[in-house]
Amino acid sequence: MIDTHCHLDVAEFDADRVGVLDRARVAGVAAIVVPAIHAAGWDGLLALCASADDLYPALGLHPVYLDRHRDSDLRELEQAITEHRPLAVGEIGLDYYLPELDRAGQQALFEAQLSIAKSADLPVLLHVRKSHEDVLTILKRVGVKGGIAHAFNGSIQQAQQYLDLGFRLGFGGMLTFTRSSRLRRLAAELPGEAIVLETDAPDMTVAAHRGERNSPEYLPDILRALSEVRGESPDVLAALTTANARAVLPGLDLIDPSGSRRLSAPPT
Ligand code: ZN
Repeated sequence: MIDTHCHLDVAEFDADRVGVLDRARVAGVAAIVVPAIHAAGWDGLLALCASADDLYPALGLHPVYLDRHRDSDLRELEQAITEHRPLAVGEIGLDYYLPELDRAGQQALFEAQLSIAKSADLPVLLHVRKSHEDVLTILKRVGVKGGIAHAFNGSIQQAQQYLDLGFRLGFGGMLTFTRSSRLRRLAAELPGEAIVLETDAPDMTVAAHRGERNSPEYLPDILRALSEVRGESPDVLAALTTANARAVLPGLDLIDPSGSRRLSAPPT
């Protein structure tokens, strides 16, 4: 399995990051994509991802932290992408859920980062809250090569538009709550090729760990929930979602297809 969205670099994991990573590997997580939040975090994120060959960095400026981004950050993003060649540009997007976030400012930042991704020929990792129509309009205008709409919670019609634009849709911990009936129905109805797994750790935890820190080691819970709602075996869905992630994040092709090269030996 691939965790396509996990903030493993944040302070919540400082005390036990190595243990979390070991447990995730034993649980069958073959690769983790670590998206950036703000420029001040890029160096730490890159250093973390350089420390293990199953961690993949994305670089970008998260819309929720609009106030923290400086004018020079976009230029530095371009330079960092040239220098470090991350897996993707992210996490970027539009958040209309939080009313205090200036929409025009977010749109300008989003569009600028899409253009950078386009020139670098990199996929993007999207944060989209209550903003699918504007995100889709801007994606069509800029014309990026695709990526992942993370924590997808839109309609089936919106899902289809993302698919047509070369995107896959990320499903995480919300799927493990039986009360998420609309999301579970969506995960059941979508073509299998549309879906990738993610935890969004340390946020958005799974039902079995409600109220606790989320962790990439819980990714099998999300796979099981997907298996439940789709009536397909976990093995089939693990292989399918892994292939989907690799199709849209070509940098993941470094993974040994058997997965064995990166997995720790099971405990004896
Ligand atoms: Zn995120």
